[in-house]
Amino acid sequence: MDLFEYQAKELFRRYGIAVPDGRVAPSAAAAEKVAAKLGGRVVVKAQVQVGGRGKAGGIKLADDAAGAKAAAEQILGMDIKGHKVRKVLVERAGDIKAEFYGSFMLDRTAKAFLGMVSSKGGVDIEEVAATDPEAIARVHISPLTGVMPYHLRRMLYDGGIPKEAHKGATVLLETMFRCFLDADASLVEVNPMVLTGDGNVIALDAKVSLDDNAAYRQPLYEKLAAEIPLPKQEKIAKEKNLNYVKLDGTIGIIGNGAGLTMSTLDVVAEAGGAPANFLDIGGGANAATMAAGIDLIFSDRKVKSLFVNIFGGITRCDEVAKGILGALDQLPDLKAPIVVRLDGTNATEGRRILEQAARANISRAPTMLEAAATAVALTKGRGAGGLKR
Ligand code: GDP
Ligand code: MN
Repeated sequence: MDLFEYQAKELFRRYGIAVPDGRVAPSAAAAEKVAAKLGGRVVVKAQVQVGGRGKAGGIKLADDAAGAKAAAEQILGMDIKGHKVRKVLVERAGDIKAEFYGSFMLDRTAKAFLGMVSSKGGVDIEEVAATDPEAIARVHISPLTGVMPYHLRRMLYDGGIPKEAHKGATVLLETMFRCFLDADASLVEVNPMVLTGDGNVIALDAKVSLDDNAAYRQPLYEKLAAEIPLPKQEKIAKEKNLNYVKLDGTIGIIGNGAGLTMSTLDVVAEAGGAPANFLDIGGGANAATMAAGIDLIFSDRKVKSLFVNIFGGITRCDEVAKGILGALDQLPDLKAPIVVRLDGTNATEGRRILEQAARANISRAPTMLEAAATAVALTKGRGAGGLKR
């Protein structure tokens, strides 16, 4: 789960990590109120789960409350890399003397944590990583010891942090690491961590990813998740108890069983197509589940064709076939092609049901590979087949 900056900073405050004073606001009027309360110069920041807001114009400085309102009016509703801005964070503007980079993450390959620090922090850190990787100190930290003073010294020296910031940066990094471990995060990143005019080091930005596997022992996760909007399709999927993940392609996928569904994604990619989703209807899926799944997939307007790949076991292919027809009855506007491959329990009966129904947009293929190739070929020259909602 990727937190919004304002959530990450609330988490930071619990661990005593220095962050600027501020509050999240869902409207320009609310932003004005927060700014008035803070007094003086403020910064208004778009809240989206993606970086690069500074470069996209999603961060603006304002001299007073009226200016904060105007800035919020510009930022709210903005689209940043496909993420719509619905909230802004209004903070007291920092007095920035220097900008650094600091982070902790899990390095699975090394079976250790990885700490990174650089004096070249700020909005160009990706470029620094690509062109001047030596400027970023990388220190592995054993999970058995946790962060030790010598780790932090190495990070600061190798990262080129100026002497005057060492004391403040050490405290900041230590508290960041405590938060990282204690909150079961997989990433805690502060870019920039800034040296202020009066010599303090604070977290001006905050990026935190939490490990969802730890939700059972982190009561806070549920509250944080409730504030993060799901993609529309995933919300519907949750309500209908469907195992659905949205992807970016144009070919809808339905399979039964996680393994078969995953390999269905692979064969579609191999046939030159891009899957639009993962949807495992599971074992024992009936007609109603099938109908709900088709409805859900075509609610994604990018979908041009659907590939239904079923290997019947507990799931009966005749039920699946009835489900497909039932779904089409409920969705008379759906004209997009559907390619069905049925095998296993009651496959013959399932195929017969589809054949008798003689629907123009349903085609069948005997093997997974042929079905995938057909589903890909049928998208050529087609606009989006999705339905309006
Ligand atoms: P990101 O671009 O999404 O990573 O957003 P950041 O929070 O890192 O902000 C980007 C840049 O905006 C920072 O590197 C700063 O240069 C600038 N910025 C952010 N907050 C302040 C502030 O309080 N005062 C000033 N002067 N600049 C700020
Ligand atoms: Mn940043």
